[in-house]
Amino acid sequence: MAERPKLAIVEDNPDNRMLLEVLLGRDYELSVYDSGEAALAGIRTDPPALVVLDISLPRVDGTEVLRRLRADDQLRAIPVVALTAHAMPGDRDTFLTMGFDDYVSKPIVDVDILARAIRRLVGGVTELADKRAAVRRRYIERLADKARDLRALRHRLENADVLAELRKRAHNLRGSGASYGFEAITEAAGRVEVAAADELAEAVDRLIEIIEETAATHAV
Ligand code: MN
Repeated sequence: MAERPKLAIVEDNPDNRMLLEVLLGRDYELSVYDSGEAALAGIRTDPPALVVLDISLPRVDGTEVLRRLRADDQLRAIPVVALTAHAMPGDRDTFLTMGFDDYVSKPIVDVDILARAIRRLVGGVTELADKRAAVRRRYIERLADKARDLRALRHRLENADVLAELRKRAHNLRGSGASYGFEAITEAAGRVEVAAADELAEAVDRLIEIIEETAATHAV
């Protein structure tokens, strides 16, 4: 088997990371980073053939990571594919103008779009669609734990740290639900993220209910 092209994956949402790792891990050699800082350090030490770069990252976001890569003589030629949840008409042109080599919007409903973007830039084989069922099963297996964690946090909402943790989890669920085909989880998590204080408990209960329903309906 020919040497696999090396990809750097930069994504802060653990469930979306899992999705990318499963989809791409057989055909490419992956270095996976959960922050812009970690990615910049890792890419400098071990430059990949291509970077798949989430735009929305805490602190150093994707556009800043791109800027620093392009400012570095050793790294500026590495192709970078933007991954973004903020899909809007015209986004594609905006990201290409910023210097990204391609653009894939999240949730990644059609995995062939990602496969084509990567294949066009670095080659390699990619039949991602057949791996989707397996990774979806892994996500479903994690749902019971997610509901249990939310329930534990739900009873201590008056604590600021608990509240921050809960909003972070809701943010991640909003980002991952639809990636795995569960639009209802994304919607309910989005409502928790924006809920006013007096609506929060109810929104969390609804999210827990939807997660448990999803887990029960799709149990393997
Ligand atoms: Mn993100």
